[in-house]
Amino acid sequence: MGLYSYTRLATYKQCPYKYKLRYIDKIPEVKTIEPFMGSCVHETLERLYKNVISAKLVPLERVLEYYHEIWARDWDDNIRIVKKDLTKDDYKTLGEKCIEDYYESYYPFNQSRTIHVEKRVLFSLDNEGRHKMRGFIDRLAIAPDGTYEIHDYKTDGTLPAQKDKDEDKQLALYQIGVKEMWRDVHSVKFIWHYLVFNKEITSSRSDGDIEKLRADKIALITEIESASEFSPRESSLCGWCSYQAICPLWKHLFIIERLPPREVSKEEGVKLVDRLEGLQNEGKEIESEIEETKEELINYSDREGVDRIFGSNKMAKIKKETKLSFPDTRDEKRIELEKVIKAEGKWDEVSSLDVRKLAKKVQEGGWNEDILENVEEFAEKEEKKSVTLVKKKGKEE
Ligand code: SF4
Repeated sequence: MGLYSYTRLATYKQCPYKYKLRYIDKIPEVKTIEPFMGSCVHETLERLYKNVISAKLVPLERVLEYYHEIWARDWDDNIRIVKKDLTKDDYKTLGEKCIEDYYESYYPFNQSRTIHVEKRVLFSLDNEGRHKMRGFIDRLAIAPDGTYEIHDYKTDGTLPAQKDKDEDKQLALYQIGVKEMWRDVHSVKFIWHYLVFNKEITSSRSDGDIEKLRADKIALITEIESASEFSPRESSLCGWCSYQAICPLWKHLFIIERLPPREVSKEEGVKLVDRLEGLQNEGKEIESEIEETKEELINYSDREGVDRIFGSNKMAKIKKETKLSFPDTRDEKRIELEKVIKAEGKWDEVSSLDVRKLAKKVQEGGWNEDILENVEEFAEKEEKKSVTLVKKKGKEE
């Protein structure tokens, strides 16, 4: 059993392939500017509160100097800026503004008593100590009424809704760690500081919520530890993923972007996709011409009263038949129809096993293990690959 963090579990949920690259293959990540600016702001506030704990109030000018020192010390020209309309200086200024607004809103920082900054928490999700987790709390404080406050600084460019924070799992996990550390932790409050908006969002969890969270995370760890496939999962976060250039979903785009513009259309993959697109377009035109010709043949057959029409080499047979159709599974009349057939005792004659649905159930692990084991004996495994042409996407979409 490994030692898990909230980020590690969230990475698996976001994309199993990214999880594999980061935590199993341990491939170093390409840094992006948003987390870089976030870590400079975090470290600045950490220094500010370390002084507050020692009863020292540092003026804003000095706090901003910390920020600039940290930025200059850690900046690396390989840090990637994904948003093309923003520059390094825009991010630096945004970080400064976060600190200024925070300083002015909370000075002299005595709303509650800060007891730790960057506090490491280590705890187990189960009583036997098998599912261990760790994390860092940005700031831990005690309110005048004795409530423990877990503070978290965010430099995200979007402000989440209260509902999202009421379902947030990270600070709820840290609550387990805080409760294990001291006996007098009776109530815990989560406070997220959305610094870009100078806004606090607060929330808390009941004991029942925490028990459910423990069970969910244990199940997720079990799933991760038994996983044998780590497939890429596309999402809106791909544009910010450090592994995009080596991810099978995006790698080709990076390959062709490195080519001189006139070489792009000659690249083998590009040529093949363009050829398939052309053939499919031709195929569609031919299909619609075939349908139109069939229509015309039916009209000819009606007009001339003939059921066979002879060409130079082939003959067209015109067959007239009445086809029955019954409501499909999306039609509400379907339930009524099934009832009638079952009531007549004829269900077994017309129903059959839907093997596609069965395969989906088994692949998703939708039944209990005993059933899956019995059914899987009949399954034949075959790796299939398919090709589908879809609209082209950019890396940041
Ligand atoms: S780019 Fe997207 S799909 Fe690929 S590894 Fe990253 S998150 Fe996963």
